[in-house]
Amino acid sequence: MVDIINQTEPSLNPVTDSPVRTVQRVRHELKRRTLTVRRTALLSPHLLRITFTSPELQDFISLSFDDHVKLILPGEPPVMRDYTPRRFSGDELDIEFALHGHGPAATWATQAAPGQTVQIGGPRGSFVVPVDFDWHLLVGDLSALPAITRRLEELPAACTAIVRVLADAAEQRALPSRANVNLQWITADLPAAVQALTLPPGEGYAWAAGEASVTAAVRAVLVGTHGLPKERIRAAAYWKPGNAGHHENL
Ligand SMILES: Cc1cc2nc3c(=O)[nH]c(=O)nc-3n(C[C@H](O)[C@H](O)[C@H](O)COP(=O)(O)OP(=O)(O)OC[C@H]3O[C@@H](n4cnc5c(N)ncnc54)[C@H](O)[C@@H]3O)c2cc1C
Repeated sequence: MVDIINQTEPSLNPVTDSPVRTVQRVRHELKRRTLTVRRTALLSPHLLRITFTSPELQDFISLSFDDHVKLILPGEPPVMRDYTPRRFSGDELDIEFALHGHGPAATWATQAAPGQTVQIGGPRGSFVVPVDFDWHLLVGDLSALPAITRRLEELPAACTAIVRVLADAAEQRALPSRANVNLQWITADLPAAVQALTLPPGEGYAWAAGEASVTAAVRAVLVGTHGLPKERIRAAAYWKPGNAGHHENL
């Protein structure tokens, strides 16, 4: 079941007379599924792809790269952590784990082997950003890279994407896309890299995620330096030092 919460007819921009792009929030029926690890692949030293399989994935819905599922690990109480559905088709779902060296989810991923089972819940909803913006800015660290990679794969050829990823040199790799992509890997100051951008003309959408204070600083630059309106920015803290399972929309 898909329940569109805020579908609106696109209105017209009074100045340009072109349609105003509308972000859509869609709610999904909440389901828990049991998945089995089919295979694992180390994409870079600290990013591990796990391909899960299950007949229960046949009706899996994920409408946006911004979606997350809850990974549920057994315990009392169970451990729940948010992860991006990176790719899904038929009876398979890929999740890419940043191996950050702490925490039950990253630790579980490190030892995952074919045949092991785990549960997921959701996605409970999707935040769907139209692809027809004049440009897309995608900013984040290794925890946001699965979402960024999915978005780049999904953007059509006519799109322009500017991408800034905070990661050590060893994690850097090609990110396939049909879009016209300007990608730079940043090894130190992500907010400064975003500050230094000259954004293209037209109406764009900025998406940022990763460590809480860095993402908050990126968001401040987008508003303060680049003057982007709040409704053209989606920024989320995907983790926070010293906090378990932190998730906050900024
Ligand atoms: C919507 C959403 C989608 C996400 N998608 C992904 C994804 O696809 N892949 C992914 O890897 N992560 C993703 N994350 C981030 C992931 O949920 C967190 O990193 C989570 O904390 C991992 O759980 P854990 O049990 O390993 O560590 P926790 O028990 O939650 O945290 C333990 C400690 O580890 C440290 N820590 C946590 N995460 C990180 C990190 N990424 N890097 C460095 N230190 C860290 C913190 O200091 C924390 O106190 C997503 C988060 C959100 C909110």
